[in-house]
Amino acid sequence: AKDSSTSDAKTGQGFKSHDMLAPFTAGWQTNELNPLIIEKSEGSYVYDINGKKYLDALAGLWSTALGGSEQRLVDAATAQLKKLPFYHSFWNRTTRPALDLAKELLELFTARKMAKAFFVNSGSEANDTQVKLVWYYYNALGKPDKKKFIARTKSYHGSTLIAASLSGLSALHQKFDLPAPFVLHTDCPHYWRYHLPGETEEEFATRLANNLEELILKEGPETIAAFIAEPVMGAGGVILPPAAYFDKIQAVVKKYDILFIADEVICAFGRLGYMFGCDKYNIKPDLVSLAKALSSAYMPIGAILVSPEIIEVIHSQSNKLGVFSHGFTYSGSPVPCVVALEALKIYKERNIVDVVNKIAPKFQDGVKAFSDSPIIGEIRGTGLILATEFVDNKSPNDPFPPEWGVGAYFGAQCEKLGMLVRVAGDNIMMSPPFIISPEEVDELISIYGKALRETE
Ligand code: PLP
Repeated sequence: AKDSSTSDAKTGQGFKSHDMLAPFTAGWQTNELNPLIIEKSEGSYVYDINGKKYLDALAGLWSTALGGSEQRLVDAATAQLKKLPFYHSFWNRTTRPALDLAKELLELFTARKMAKAFFVNSGSEANDTQVKLVWYYYNALGKPDKKKFIARTKSYHGSTLIAASLSGLSALHQKFDLPAPFVLHTDCPHYWRYHLPGETEEEFATRLANNLEELILKEGPETIAAFIAEPVMGAGGVILPPAAYFDKIQAVVKKYDILFIADEVICAFGRLGYMFGCDKYNIKPDLVSLAKALSSAYMPIGAILVSPEIIEVIHSQSNKLGVFSHGFTYSGSPVPCVVALEALKIYKERNIVDVVNKIAPKFQDGVKAFSDSPIIGEIRGTGLILATEFVDNKSPNDPFPPEWGVGAYFGAQCEKLGMLVRVAGDNIMMSPPFIISPEEVDELISIYGKALRETE
Protein backbone atom coordinates (compact mmCIF):
# COMPACT_ATOMS: atom_id res chain seq x y z
CA ALA A 1 0.00 0.00 0.00
CA LYS A 2 2.95 2.27 -0.41
CA ASP A 3 2.58 3.12 -4.09
CA SER A 4 1.62 6.64 -3.16
CA SER A 5 5.18 7.35 -2.06
CA THR A 6 6.29 6.79 -5.65
CA SER A 7 3.21 8.24 -7.21
CA ASP A 8 3.32 10.77 -9.97
CA ALA A 9 1.52 13.70 -8.42
CA LYS A 10 0.89 15.14 -11.85
CA THR A 11 -0.94 12.26 -13.52
CA GLY A 12 -2.28 10.40 -10.53
CA GLN A 13 -0.62 7.23 -11.82
CA GLY A 14 0.62 5.20 -8.89
CA PHE A 15 -2.18 6.14 -6.51
CA LYS A 16 -3.57 2.63 -7.01
CA SER A 17 -3.57 0.72 -3.78
CA HIS A 18 -3.40 3.97 -1.84
CA ASP A 19 -3.42 4.39 1.92
CA MET A 20 -7.06 5.35 2.33
CA LEU A 21 -9.89 3.01 3.21
CA ALA A 22 -12.22 4.93 0.93
CA PRO A 23 -15.90 5.55 1.72
CA PHE A 24 -18.45 3.89 -0.57
CA THR A 25 -15.64 2.44 -2.68
CA ALA A 26 -14.86 -1.23 -3.35
CA GLY A 27 -11.48 -2.66 -2.39
CA TRP A 28 -10.93 -3.87 -5.96
CA GLN A 29 -11.48 -0.33 -7.21
CA THR A 30 -8.66 1.04 -5.08
CA ASN A 31 -6.45 -1.85 -6.18
CA GLU A 32 -7.18 -1.76 -9.89
CA LEU A 33 -8.10 1.80 -10.77
CA ASN A 34 -6.43 5.12 -10.24
CA PRO A 35 -8.75 7.35 -8.25
CA LEU A 36 -10.07 10.51 -9.83
CA ILE A 37 -8.23 13.13 -7.83
CA ILE A 38 -9.98 16.49 -7.71
CA GLU A 39 -7.73 19.41 -7.01
CA LYS A 40 -9.61 22.68 -7.38
CA SER A 41 -13.01 24.14 -8.06
CA GLU A 42 -14.38 27.18 -9.82
CA GLY A 43 -18.09 28.01 -9.93
CA SER A 44 -19.97 24.97 -11.26
CA TYR A 45 -16.74 23.20 -12.26
CA VAL A 46 -14.04 21.10 -10.62
CA TYR A 47 -10.61 20.22 -12.00
CA ASP A 48 -8.60 17.06 -11.57
CA ILE A 49 -4.86 16.93 -10.95
CA ASN A 50 -4.21 16.80 -14.69
CA GLY A 51 -6.09 20.05 -15.16
CA LYS A 52 -9.10 18.38 -16.80
CA LYS A 53 -12.30 20.36 -16.21
CA TYR A 54 -15.59 18.73 -15.19
CA LEU A 55 -19.05 20.21 -14.85
CA ASP A 56 -19.95 19.18 -11.30
CA ALA A 57 -23.49 18.02 -12.03
CA LEU A 58 -23.89 16.58 -8.51
CA ALA A 59 -22.60 19.69 -6.67
CA GLY A 60 -20.03 17.63 -4.77
CA LEU A 61 -22.41 15.29 -2.95
CA TRP A 62 -25.67 17.23 -3.48
CA SER A 63 -24.04 19.84 -1.33
CA THR A 64 -22.03 22.74 -2.83
CA ALA A 65 -25.13 24.81 -3.52
CA LEU A 66 -23.14 27.98 -4.16
CA GLY A 67 -20.57 26.25 -6.35
CA GLY A 68 -16.87 25.91 -5.72
CA SER A 69 -15.55 29.45 -5.48
CA GLU A 70 -17.78 31.59 -3.29
CA GLN A 71 -15.30 34.08 -1.88
CA ARG A 72 -17.64 35.35 0.82
CA LEU A 73 -17.69 31.92 2.45
CA VAL A 74 -13.90 31.77 2.36
CA ASP A 75 -13.65 35.25 3.87
CA ALA A 76 -16.15 34.42 6.61
CA ALA A 77 -14.16 31.32 7.58
CA THR A 78 -10.84 33.16 7.44
CA ALA A 79 -12.00 36.04 9.62
CA GLN A 80 -13.44 33.66 12.23
CA LEU A 81 -10.30 31.50 12.18
CA LYS A 82 -8.29 34.60 13.05
CA LYS A 83 -10.68 35.74 15.77
CA LEU A 84 -11.71 32.51 17.49
CA PRO A 85 -10.96 29.25 15.65
CA PHE A 86 -12.67 27.09 18.24
CA TYR A 87 -14.70 27.09 21.32
CA HIS A 88 -17.33 24.55 22.31
CA SER A 89 -20.97 24.81 23.37
CA PHE A 90 -20.96 22.40 26.33
CA TRP A 91 -21.98 23.22 29.95
CA ASN A 92 -23.82 26.41 29.03
CA ARG A 93 -20.72 27.94 27.48
CA THR A 94 -21.00 28.83 23.80
CA THR A 95 -20.10 31.32 21.08
CA ARG A 96 -21.89 34.12 19.23
CA PRO A 97 -21.87 32.36 15.82
CA ALA A 98 -23.65 29.32 17.28
CA LEU A 99 -26.34 31.47 18.91
CA ASP A 100 -26.76 33.59 15.78
CA LEU A 101 -27.06 30.55 13.52
CA ALA A 102 -29.66 28.91 15.75
CA LYS A 103 -31.73 32.11 15.64
CA GLU A 104 -31.40 32.40 11.84
CA LEU A 105 -32.47 28.79 11.24
CA LEU A 106 -35.51 29.08 13.47
CA GLU A 107 -36.56 32.22 11.57
CA LEU A 108 -35.94 30.68 8.18
CA PHE A 109 -37.96 27.53 8.78
CA THR A 110 -41.59 28.63 8.52
CA ALA A 111 -43.45 25.39 7.64
CA ARG A 112 -44.31 25.45 11.35
CA LYS A 113 -42.83 27.02 14.43
CA MET A 114 -39.69 25.39 15.77
CA ALA A 115 -38.25 26.14 19.19
CA LYS A 116 -34.57 25.13 19.22
CA ALA A 117 -31.67 24.15 16.98
CA PHE A 118 -29.04 21.57 17.94
CA PHE A 119 -25.77 21.52 15.99
CA VAL A 120 -23.92 18.50 14.61
CA ASN A 121 -21.27 17.91 11.96
CA SER A 122 -23.14 15.91 9.35
CA GLY A 123 -26.45 14.56 8.18
CA SER A 124 -25.74 11.19 9.78
CA GLU A 125 -25.10 12.80 13.15
CA ALA A 126 -28.28 14.82 12.72
CA ASN A 127 -30.34 11.65 12.31
CA ASP A 128 -28.52 9.82 15.10
CA THR A 129 -29.29 12.77 17.33
CA GLN A 130 -32.95 12.65 16.27
CA VAL A 131 -33.26 9.08 17.51
CA LYS A 132 -31.55 9.76 20.82
CA LEU A 133 -33.57 12.93 21.34
CA VAL A 134 -36.85 11.15 20.59
CA TRP A 135 -36.00 8.40 23.07
CA TYR A 136 -35.01 11.00 25.66
CA TYR A 137 -38.29 12.84 25.03
CA TYR A 138 -40.47 9.75 25.46
CA ASN A 139 -38.57 8.77 28.61
CA ALA A 140 -39.18 12.26 29.97
CA LEU A 141 -42.85 11.97 29.00
CA GLY A 142 -43.22 8.71 30.91
CA LYS A 143 -43.81 6.65 27.74
CA PRO A 144 -40.70 4.46 27.79
CA ASP A 145 -42.23 1.83 25.47
CA LYS A 146 -42.52 4.26 22.56
CA LYS A 147 -39.12 3.53 20.98
CA LYS A 148 -39.45 2.14 17.44
CA PHE A 149 -38.83 4.11 14.26
CA ILE A 150 -40.45 3.70 10.88
CA ALA A 151 -38.46 4.69 7.81
CA ARG A 152 -38.99 3.82 4.15
CA THR A 153 -37.43 1.36 1.76
CA LYS A 154 -34.86 3.12 -0.47
CA SER A 155 -34.48 6.07 1.90
CA TYR A 156 -31.00 7.34 2.74
CA HIS A 157 -30.41 8.88 6.16
CA GLY A 158 -26.65 8.45 6.52
CA SER A 159 -24.15 5.77 7.44
CA THR A 160 -23.52 5.86 11.20
CA LEU A 161 -25.06 2.95 13.12
CA ILE A 162 -28.46 4.52 13.62
CA ALA A 163 -28.59 6.51 10.37
CA ALA A 164 -27.66 3.41 8.35
CA SER A 165 -30.34 1.46 10.21
CA LEU A 166 -32.94 4.09 9.34
CA SER A 167 -31.82 4.03 5.71
CA GLY A 168 -33.76 1.64 3.54
CA LEU A 169 -30.94 0.55 1.24
CA SER A 170 -29.80 -3.05 1.61
CA ALA A 171 -26.17 -2.22 0.76
CA LEU A 172 -26.01 -0.25 4.01
CA HIS A 173 -27.29 -3.19 6.03
CA GLN A 174 -25.69 -6.26 4.48
CA LYS A 175 -22.38 -7.26 6.06
CA PHE A 176 -22.88 -4.68 8.81
CA ASP A 177 -25.43 -6.65 10.87
CA LEU A 178 -27.99 -3.89 10.39
CA PRO A 179 -30.64 -2.57 10.62
CA ALA A 180 -30.92 -2.26 14.39
CA PRO A 181 -34.03 -4.04 15.70
CA PHE A 182 -35.86 -0.85 16.66
CA VAL A 183 -36.13 0.25 13.01
CA LEU A 184 -38.97 -0.85 10.72
CA HIS A 185 -39.32 -0.06 7.04
CA THR A 186 -42.46 0.75 5.10
CA ASP A 187 -43.10 1.23 1.37
CA CYS A 188 -41.01 3.30 -0.98
CA PRO A 189 -43.42 5.79 -2.61
CA HIS A 190 -42.13 5.31 -6.15
CA TYR A 191 -45.27 5.45 -8.28
CA TRP A 192 -43.70 4.44 -11.62
CA ARG A 193 -42.14 1.33 -10.15
CA TYR A 194 -44.70 0.17 -7.63
CA HIS A 195 -48.19 1.27 -8.67
CA LEU A 196 -50.73 -1.40 -9.56
CA PRO A 197 -52.25 -1.47 -13.05
CA GLY A 198 -54.85 1.28 -13.33
CA GLU A 199 -54.00 2.76 -9.93
CA THR A 200 -53.85 6.58 -9.86
CA GLU A 201 -51.12 8.39 -7.93
CA GLU A 202 -53.60 9.28 -5.23
CA GLU A 203 -54.89 5.71 -4.96
CA PHE A 204 -51.30 4.53 -4.73
CA ALA A 205 -50.68 7.04 -1.92
CA THR A 206 -53.81 5.82 -0.12
CA ARG A 207 -52.60 2.22 -0.35
CA LEU A 208 -49.20 3.18 1.08
CA ALA A 209 -50.80 5.13 3.93
CA ASN A 210 -53.00 2.09 4.67
CA ASN A 211 -49.94 -0.15 4.69
CA LEU A 212 -48.25 2.22 7.12
CA GLU A 213 -51.30 2.11 9.39
CA GLU A 214 -51.32 -1.70 9.24
CA LEU A 215 -47.68 -1.83 10.24
CA ILE A 216 -48.30 0.54 13.16
CA LEU A 217 -51.27 -1.52 14.36
CA LYS A 218 -49.35 -4.77 13.99
CA GLU A 219 -46.45 -3.45 16.07
CA GLY A 220 -48.67 -1.60 18.53
CA PRO A 221 -48.96 2.19 18.24
CA GLU A 222 -47.74 2.54 21.82
CA THR A 223 -44.34 1.20 20.66
CA ILE A 224 -43.84 3.50 17.66
CA ALA A 225 -41.88 6.66 18.42
CA ALA A 226 -41.37 8.38 15.09
CA PHE A 227 -41.59 8.24 11.33
CA ILE A 228 -38.71 9.65 9.25
CA ALA A 229 -38.81 10.70 5.61
CA GLU A 230 -36.93 12.76 3.06
CA PRO A 231 -39.40 15.09 1.27
CA VAL A 232 -37.82 13.89 -1.99
CA MET A 233 -35.73 10.73 -1.62
CA GLY A 234 -32.22 11.50 -2.82
CA ALA A 235 -29.66 8.71 -2.89
CA GLY A 236 -32.39 6.06 -3.27
CA GLY A 237 -33.01 7.42 -6.75
CA VAL A 238 -34.61 10.90 -6.58
CA ILE A 239 -38.07 9.62 -5.79
CA LEU A 240 -40.80 12.24 -5.64
CA PRO A 241 -43.84 11.60 -3.47
CA PRO A 242 -47.02 10.79 -5.39
CA ALA A 243 -49.98 13.18 -5.23
CA ALA A 244 -51.38 13.66 -1.70
CA TYR A 245 -48.83 11.21 -0.25
CA PHE A 246 -47.56 13.35 2.62
CA ASP A 247 -51.10 14.52 3.54
CA LYS A 248 -52.18 10.91 3.92
CA ILE A 249 -49.01 9.79 5.72
CA GLN A 250 -49.17 12.72 8.14
CA ALA A 251 -52.80 11.90 8.96
CA VAL A 252 -51.82 8.33 9.93
CA VAL A 253 -48.80 9.41 11.93
CA LYS A 254 -50.83 12.02 13.82
CA LYS A 255 -53.63 9.56 14.54
CA TYR A 256 -51.24 7.33 16.50
CA ASP A 257 -49.29 10.09 18.22
CA ILE A 258 -46.11 9.37 16.27
CA LEU A 259 -43.53 12.10 15.68
CA PHE A 260 -42.65 13.14 12.13
CA ILE A 261 -38.96 13.72 11.34
CA ALA A 262 -38.27 15.51 8.05
CA ASP A 263 -34.82 14.62 6.74
CA GLU A 264 -34.11 17.79 4.74
CA VAL A 265 -30.39 17.11 4.34
CA ILE A 266 -30.63 17.25 0.52
CA CYS A 267 -33.91 19.12 0.03
CA ALA A 268 -33.38 22.21 2.20
CA PHE A 269 -32.29 25.72 1.19
CA GLY A 270 -33.78 25.79 -2.32
CA ARG A 271 -32.96 22.52 -4.08
CA LEU A 272 -36.65 21.76 -4.78
CA GLY A 273 -37.54 25.33 -5.69
CA TYR A 274 -38.75 26.00 -2.13
CA MET A 275 -36.67 27.00 0.88
CA PHE A 276 -37.50 23.61 2.44
CA GLY A 277 -39.00 20.38 1.18
CA CYS A 278 -41.58 20.75 3.97
CA ASP A 279 -42.83 23.95 2.27
CA LYS A 280 -43.32 22.16 -1.04
CA TYR A 281 -45.25 19.21 0.40
CA ASN A 282 -47.02 20.96 3.29
CA ILE A 283 -45.21 18.85 5.88
CA LYS A 284 -45.55 19.97 9.52
CA PRO A 285 -42.71 18.06 11.15
CA ASP A 286 -41.84 17.71 14.82
CA LEU A 287 -38.15 17.49 14.00
CA VAL A 288 -36.01 18.49 11.00
CA SER A 289 -32.52 17.34 9.94
CA LEU A 290 -30.26 19.72 8.03
CA ALA A 291 -26.70 19.56 6.64
CA LYS A 292 -24.99 19.87 3.23
CA ALA A 293 -26.23 23.19 1.71
CA LEU A 294 -26.46 24.66 5.23
CA SER A 295 -22.85 25.74 4.68
CA SER A 296 -22.83 25.03 0.93
CA ALA A 297 -20.53 22.22 2.15
CA TYR A 298 -17.61 24.60 2.71
CA MET A 299 -17.45 23.41 6.32
CA PRO A 300 -18.92 20.28 7.87
CA ILE A 301 -22.02 21.28 9.79
CA GLY A 302 -25.53 19.97 10.31
CA ALA A 303 -28.41 20.86 12.57
CA ILE A 304 -31.66 19.55 13.87
CA LEU A 305 -34.68 21.73 14.57
CA VAL A 306 -36.93 20.74 17.46
CA SER A 307 -40.60 21.57 17.99
CA PRO A 308 -41.84 23.64 20.94
CA GLU A 309 -43.85 20.64 22.24
CA ILE A 310 -40.75 18.47 22.56
CA ILE A 311 -38.70 21.25 24.11
CA GLU A 312 -41.51 22.01 26.56
CA VAL A 313 -41.44 18.44 27.86
CA ILE A 314 -37.66 18.27 28.07
CA HIS A 315 -37.30 21.64 29.76
CA SER A 316 -40.18 21.17 32.16
CA GLN A 317 -38.61 17.92 33.29
CA SER A 318 -35.06 19.20 33.38
CA ASN A 319 -34.74 19.22 37.16
CA LYS A 320 -35.51 15.51 37.08
CA LEU A 321 -33.60 14.73 33.86
CA GLY A 322 -30.48 16.69 34.68
CA VAL A 323 -28.01 17.37 31.90
CA PHE A 324 -28.88 16.51 28.27
CA SER A 325 -25.81 14.31 27.96
CA HIS A 326 -25.43 14.38 24.21
CA GLY A 327 -23.22 16.48 21.94
CA PHE A 328 -20.02 16.64 19.98
CA THR A 329 -16.81 18.62 20.37
CA TYR A 330 -17.75 20.46 17.19
CA SER A 331 -21.47 20.99 17.96
CA GLY A 332 -21.85 24.66 17.06
CA SER A 333 -18.16 25.19 16.36
CA PRO A 334 -17.72 28.86 15.39
CA VAL A 335 -16.01 28.51 11.99
CA PRO A 336 -18.66 26.20 10.43
CA CYS A 337 -21.34 28.39 12.03
CA VAL A 338 -20.09 31.63 10.47
CA VAL A 339 -19.79 29.93 7.09
CA ALA A 340 -23.38 28.69 7.42
CA LEU A 341 -24.52 32.16 8.51
CA GLU A 342 -22.87 33.67 5.43
CA ALA A 343 -24.41 31.00 3.16
CA LEU A 344 -27.87 31.76 4.58
CA LYS A 345 -27.24 35.47 4.07
CA ILE A 346 -26.32 34.84 0.43
CA TYR A 347 -29.42 32.66 -0.10
CA LYS A 348 -31.54 35.53 1.23
CA GLU A 349 -29.80 38.34 -0.66
CA ARG A 350 -29.89 36.49 -3.97
CA ASN A 351 -33.41 35.10 -3.47
CA ILE A 352 -31.98 31.66 -3.98
CA VAL A 353 -35.39 30.04 -4.33
CA ASP A 354 -36.14 32.34 -7.28
CA VAL A 355 -32.70 31.63 -8.74
CA VAL A 356 -33.44 27.88 -8.63
CA ASN A 357 -36.94 28.31 -10.03
CA LYS A 358 -35.60 30.40 -12.91
CA ILE A 359 -33.05 27.84 -14.07
CA ALA A 360 -34.88 24.62 -13.09
CA PRO A 361 -37.28 24.38 -16.09
CA LYS A 362 -34.36 24.58 -18.54
CA PHE A 363 -32.59 21.80 -16.64
CA GLN A 364 -35.64 19.59 -16.13
CA ASP A 365 -37.11 20.04 -19.63
CA GLY A 366 -33.70 19.72 -21.28
CA VAL A 367 -32.91 16.38 -19.68
CA LYS A 368 -36.49 15.05 -19.81
CA ALA A 369 -36.43 15.62 -23.60
CA PHE A 370 -34.41 12.37 -23.72
CA SER A 371 -37.23 10.36 -22.13
CA ASP A 372 -38.02 8.60 -25.41
CA SER A 373 -34.65 6.84 -25.46
CA PRO A 374 -35.22 3.08 -25.70
CA ILE A 375 -32.94 2.47 -22.69
CA ILE A 376 -34.60 5.03 -20.40
CA GLY A 377 -37.51 3.98 -18.20
CA GLU A 378 -38.08 7.20 -16.33
CA ILE A 379 -36.51 10.62 -15.93
CA ARG A 380 -37.86 12.21 -12.79
CA GLY A 381 -37.06 15.32 -10.84
CA THR A 382 -38.06 18.73 -9.59
CA GLY A 383 -36.14 21.95 -9.06
CA LEU A 384 -32.44 21.18 -9.35
CA ILE A 385 -32.56 17.45 -8.63
CA LEU A 386 -33.14 14.72 -11.16
CA ALA A 387 -32.58 11.03 -11.84
CA THR A 388 -32.55 8.91 -14.96
CA GLU A 389 -33.35 5.23 -14.64
CA PHE A 390 -32.13 2.85 -17.33
CA VAL A 391 -34.27 -0.23 -18.00
CA ASP A 392 -35.07 -2.51 -20.91
CA ASN A 393 -38.40 -2.24 -22.76
CA LYS A 394 -39.17 0.98 -20.87
CA SER A 395 -40.48 -1.18 -18.04
CA PRO A 396 -39.60 -1.05 -14.33
CA ASN A 397 -39.92 -4.84 -14.40
CA ASP A 398 -37.15 -5.28 -16.98
CA PRO A 399 -33.87 -4.15 -15.45
CA PHE A 400 -30.74 -4.60 -17.53
CA PRO A 401 -28.49 -7.43 -16.28
CA PRO A 402 -26.26 -5.80 -13.62
CA GLU A 403 -23.16 -7.25 -15.31
CA TRP A 404 -23.86 -5.09 -18.37
CA GLY A 405 -23.10 -2.05 -16.18
CA VAL A 406 -25.32 0.28 -18.21
CA GLY A 407 -25.38 3.02 -15.57
CA ALA A 408 -21.66 2.72 -14.90
CA TYR A 409 -20.96 2.97 -18.64
CA PHE A 410 -23.10 6.10 -18.95
CA GLY A 411 -21.35 7.62 -15.92
CA ALA A 412 -17.94 6.84 -17.39
CA GLN A 413 -18.94 8.48 -20.69
CA CYS A 414 -20.03 11.62 -18.82
CA GLU A 415 -16.71 11.66 -16.97
CA LYS A 416 -14.79 11.25 -20.24
CA LEU A 417 -16.76 14.13 -21.73
CA GLY A 418 -16.14 16.35 -18.69
CA MET A 419 -19.11 15.95 -16.36
CA LEU A 420 -19.50 14.25 -12.97
CA VAL A 421 -22.78 12.55 -12.07
CA ARG A 422 -23.84 10.08 -9.39
CA VAL A 423 -24.16 6.49 -10.54
CA ALA A 424 -26.12 4.01 -8.40
CA GLY A 425 -26.62 0.86 -10.43
CA ASP A 426 -28.72 1.93 -13.42
CA ASN A 427 -29.85 5.14 -11.74
CA ILE A 428 -28.05 8.31 -12.71
CA MET A 429 -28.53 11.28 -10.44
CA MET A 430 -27.81 14.96 -10.86
CA SER A 431 -28.19 17.92 -8.51
CA PRO A 432 -26.16 20.81 -9.93
CA PRO A 433 -25.17 23.86 -7.89
CA PHE A 434 -27.88 26.53 -7.58
CA ILE A 435 -25.57 28.97 -9.37
CA ILE A 436 -25.46 26.92 -12.59
CA SER A 437 -25.83 29.29 -15.57
CA PRO A 438 -28.05 28.76 -18.64
CA GLU A 439 -24.92 28.11 -20.73
CA GLU A 440 -23.73 25.51 -18.23
CA VAL A 441 -27.14 23.82 -18.33
CA ASP A 442 -26.78 23.70 -22.14
CA GLU A 443 -23.41 22.03 -21.67
CA LEU A 444 -24.86 19.57 -19.15
CA ILE A 445 -27.62 18.61 -21.59
CA SER A 446 -25.20 18.30 -24.46
CA ILE A 447 -22.86 15.98 -22.53
CA TYR A 448 -25.83 13.98 -21.24
CA GLY A 449 -27.06 13.53 -24.83
CA LYS A 450 -23.67 12.43 -26.13
CA ALA A 451 -23.17 9.98 -23.26
CA LEU A 452 -26.66 8.60 -23.85
CA ARG A 453 -25.99 8.01 -27.57
CA GLU A 454 -22.78 6.18 -26.67
CA THR A 455 -24.69 4.06 -24.13
CA GLU A 456 -27.63 3.19 -26.42
N1 PLP B 1 -29.78 12.32 5.04
C1 PLP B 1 -29.88 12.47 3.71
C2 PLP B 1 -31.23 12.68 3.10
C3 PLP B 1 -28.75 12.41 2.90
O1 PLP B 1 -28.85 12.53 1.58
C4 PLP B 1 -27.49 12.23 3.51
C5 PLP B 1 -26.26 12.19 2.70
O2 PLP B 1 -26.27 12.13 1.50
C6 PLP B 1 -27.44 12.07 4.90
C7 PLP B 1 -28.60 12.14 5.64
C8 PLP B 1 -26.14 11.82 5.59
O3 PLP B 1 -25.39 12.97 5.59
P1 PLP B 1 -23.80 12.89 5.87
O4 PLP B 1 -23.19 12.20 4.70
O5 PLP B 1 -23.44 14.33 5.99
O6 PLP B 1 -23.62 12.15 7.13
